[in-house]
Amino acid sequence: VTKIGVLTSGGDSPGMNAAIRAVVRTSLYHGLEVYGVLRGYNGMVEDDIFKMESRSVANIIQRGGTILKTARSKDFYEYDGRKRAYDNLKKRGINGLVVIGGDGSFNGALRFSKEFDIPCIGLPGTIDKDIAGTDFTIGFDTAVNTAVEAIDKIRDTADAHDRLFIIEVMGRDAGYIALHSGIATGAEHILIPERKTDIESVIASLQEKEKRKKLVNLIVVAEGDEFGGAEQVARVVKEKMPNVDARVCILGHIQRGGSPSCIDRLIASRMGYHAVECLLTGKHNVMVGIQNNKMHYTPLENAVKAKQKINEEWMRIVKILAS
Ligand code: ADP
Repeated sequence: VTKIGVLTSGGDSPGMNAAIRAVVRTSLYHGLEVYGVLRGYNGMVEDDIFKMESRSVANIIQRGGTILKTARSKDFYEYDGRKRAYDNLKKRGINGLVVIGGDGSFNGALRFSKEFDIPCIGLPGTIDKDIAGTDFTIGFDTAVNTAVEAIDKIRDTADAHDRLFIIEVMGRDAGYIALHSGIATGAEHILIPERKTDIESVIASLQEKEKRKKLVNLIVVAEGDEFGGAEQVARVVKEKMPNVDARVCILGHIQRGGSPSCIDRLIASRMGYHAVECLLTGKHNVMVGIQNNKMHYTPLENAVKAKQKINEEWMRIVKILAS
């Protein structure tokens, strides 16, 4: 591998810039040429590709979002689109690709690497942490800290008014943001897509707390919870407990933005460095992850399929600490 392309794809996450910076600077260190691809796979298909220098990534390690922009690409789902993308890389001599994104982006990279002679390395960039083979994904720590900060503020006002707050955090298929931020803010209930939402038992527990005059309660709900998110939970709570002052707060896109945390900058830097090392040492078509503080490489095939499992002990901790 002599010329490397780098892109960010799918949903954005804080720390992507730190990963881009690491890929660019490590490539240059090894005397490789490095090219930025704009707007995910769209830039490959539409030939929006530019050469990057060390200065291209100056002053970005602390910035959220991604300087390369990110997008979803319809064209890349079609063979014709991927062929055009390949031709655009080929004419510049780009013969290695680093894709920073979620499992959807890895799916695209896997297909592309099977069809054409361009090895791909995936870096897990998603706030949802819904990727197997790594303890961390770039952006999760920042997102969860943003959620914790917001929920702490909500608890202040909930406490002042004796209110029940139902707070929706991001996570369409994964409950990690809800679970981590919920435990860290002492939420009474945490509802996640990985578990069946037993709304009856939530109500029963709230009624029992009402009897004990414990009126301040926080329920953290992942947006992908099978019950349908915070609004749906609130609807049932208000129906069954008309006396309770229940409010909904949907945190929304604030969870995606902001300056990346120290952890996200660190893992993005380590992963970006190792992505280039992988391309150089022939460890191709893998996702670079970190497990037990060591680099861990998962074939893209497995990174796309597998999902992390929720630790049963964590669910027990939620129950015991919130009683
Ligand atoms: P994320 O990476 O955040 O999971 P998406 O699921 O939207 O986001 O995937 C990002 C992009 O990856 C898609 O818009 C598409 O261009 C590409 N992609 C995803 N799955 C495939 C696939 N099976 N074949 C080709 N490209 C794909």
